Amino acid sequence: MKKIGIILCDRYRECGGGKCFRALRERRGAFSRYAAEEAVEIVGYSTCGGCPGGNVEHVPEEMARNGADVIHLATGLIVGYPPCPYIADFKAFIEAAFGIPVVVGTHPIPLRYVETQDRLPFWERTGMKDLAGDLLAENRQVMASYD
Ligand code: SF4
Repeated sequence: MKKIGIILCDRYRECGGGKCFRALRERRGAFSRYAAEEAVEIVGYSTCGGCPGGNVEHVPEEMARNGADVIHLATGLIVGYPPCPYIADFKAFIEAAFGIPVVVGTHPIPLRYVETQDRLPFWERTGMKDLAGDLLAENRQVMASYD
């Protein structure tokens, strides 16, 4: 059983989680690392609380109490205009303070975001290839299916 916490970018706080939960069911995007036969459970789902992400100081503790094995920073942090500038800091903090590994991303990046980000300097500037290389390299047909 893999117990998963998800932290969203507060810009998408009204998101119903449709793409994340679909991707988890389909084992796509950052969830492709979990085998189809491995049971998964969402043990926490919250936003960062708004820039600069004060909730990140607190919600991992609740997720840890619920047994979180891993915390995913949702794909919204990667695709936003501009992307979240604190992704590397959030990952470093959560891993150091709570000892829970952090994965950058949840569902596949919708293709329309890739096409726009490819015309912008944001991903280059934020080192997104290092942070979320697997998601950026996802099959484009899969990305298009998440538009
Ligand atoms: S950009 Fe980063 S800090 Fe700001 S609301 Fe989104 S996740 Fe939170």
